[in-house]
Amino acid sequence: MVQFKKEEKEKTDFRDRLATIDESGKRVWVYAKKPKGQLTFWRNIVGFVLMIFFFTAPFIRIHGEPLLLLNFIDREIVLLGVRFWPQDFHLFFLAMISLMVFIILFTVTFGRLWCGWACPQTVFMELIFRRLEYWIEGDAYHQKQLDKQPWKAGRIFRKTIKHILFFGISFIIGNYFLMYIIGSGSWEKLVTESPSEHIAGLSSMLVFSGVFYFIFSWFREQVCTIVCPYGRLQGVLLDRNSIVISYDYKRGEPRGTFFKGEDRAKAGKGSCINCTQCVQVCPTGIDIRNGTQLECINCACCIDACNGMMDATNQPRGLIRYASEKTIAEGTRLKFNIRTIAYSAVLIILLGVFTFSITARKPIEATILRAPGMLYQEPEPGKISNLYNIKLVNKTNQDLPIELKAIDPQGEIKVIGNDITVKKQSVGESVFFLILDKEKVVSDKNPVHFDIYSNGKLIEEIKSTFVGPNKP
Ligand code: SF4
Ligand code: SF4
Repeated sequence: MVQFKKEEKEKTDFRDRLATIDESGKRVWVYAKKPKGQLTFWRNIVGFVLMIFFFTAPFIRIHGEPLLLLNFIDREIVLLGVRFWPQDFHLFFLAMISLMVFIILFTVTFGRLWCGWACPQTVFMELIFRRLEYWIEGDAYHQKQLDKQPWKAGRIFRKTIKHILFFGISFIIGNYFLMYIIGSGSWEKLVTESPSEHIAGLSSMLVFSGVFYFIFSWFREQVCTIVCPYGRLQGVLLDRNSIVISYDYKRGEPRGTFFKGEDRAKAGKGSCINCTQCVQVCPTGIDIRNGTQLECINCACCIDACNGMMDATNQPRGLIRYASEKTIAEGTRLKFNIRTIAYSAVLIILLGVFTFSITARKPIEATILRAPGMLYQEPEPGKISNLYNIKLVNKTNQDLPIELKAIDPQGEIKVIGNDITVKKQSVGESVFFLILDKEKVVSDKNPVHFDIYSNGKLIEEIKSTFVGPNKP
């Protein structure tokens, strides 16, 4: 009885602790075996495309604007070449809300697809750092052996080379990360001008490099299992219909050793041959046969490993596969149900709304207000004037000459000082008089309509008021 209870506890204690932390609370280092297979191949392709994007995006310009700039400190945000101004806060807010809804719907429907295929942590870790590790220290078995060796020349040499390369690459990633914050232009100044002028920038560069080195050389999968808020949310986001990486326990159990020529069905065994290949390749150190777990980043390495074993033992592939808990329990195949299609449609609509909001954004914003504390003036007999302040936000990448017209009622505009030109990406202010014929001023508060032109093109229409003398 005691033995039975112990076995039961061992079977379920993965629920009580992380696979990478032992009972005494110490880190269990994961020596993940090199994965290979169809999904790994495609994951590598996706990863390389994303890395090309990551390393080229800071230099891509759209109408002179960076593709992506996230300078929250100076409130400079550029998405897809569109610069967000404080006046565009509603758009940015909409973008963030859309993103959050997108993440929730995407996760509810497709599980942690993002984590396994597109998250920078996974892409850099698996495609760069772990590859280098395999190259320098060998596969998981050799890495384990190396770590058991005393600190002699061979071990010191391999570890030194590894950590120099790890830091070098972390430094490169850190610099690119910085470019996404300050822009490639400012980064160029940072590395070409005197260090004394860029103490803060250079310090950030070193801090980012240090953080990335720490993450990729030591912290690794713990980012996904302990720190990442998205990972921690899985418990509430996933449900029985979410598509995750699943072990088909109905087909796999009872697991049992493989013997050549044996009829497994007759021997009362399921398809799982208990080879533990799926566990050995897992970068988070879990056994997917225990069911969906918080640590699973959906990297699909276990699918490839298991498919390899299924091929070797002449059994159909797919013992571990992309499936929902429901389809596994009911023994049905994964198909797109109404919910998946509806959620996907909402995701597409959200993306559409966001793209439309950005592209339909006004390139210039203007406000015209009567000068505070001023009533009307009579500049000459038969004429009445009001003084106005105009404020213009030029969100484009060109200087814009501005022409003002009073449309309804028609009147004369007299700008005080030079003609109005608003420099690119900046705010301009000016003051002007609107002079109307006395007979057009029908009351003490008259509506007026201004049109704002630039280079002959109507760019904004503004309504304001014109103060006149009290009429009996
Ligand atoms: S269980 Fe499979 S999919 Fe999940 S992290 Fe481990 S290897 Fe990747
Ligand atoms: S790789 Fe497949 S067969 Fe081997 S232990 Fe894992 S689930 Fe079972």
